[in-house]
Amino acid sequence: MPTCRDVSELVTDYLERRLSVRGWLGVRWHLRQCDACRRYIAQMRQTIRLLADSAFPPPGTETEETVLRAVHGSAPPDPAPGE
Ligand SMILES: [Zn+2]
Repeated sequence: MPTCRDVSELVTDYLERRLSVRGWLGVRWHLRQCDACRRYIAQMRQTIRLLADSAFPPPGTETEETVLRAVHGSAPPDPAPGE
């Protein structure tokens, strides 16, 4: 049966279902009796979900300028008007 350390090393493969049946059963067996690892796995799942949710496309130019203005407190210097 895997130790807590083994589980922490196997957690990614476990969540991505890349373990052998034997490895998977070992982790399941450990989780049945170990609160700490159950919490750890639950946190990992949540983190993975949050990362997946935050995968949005980069903002457009307008948004970028608005943010830059907010950060710098003024409009970015405009190019000299064509005279
Ligand atoms: Zn454990």
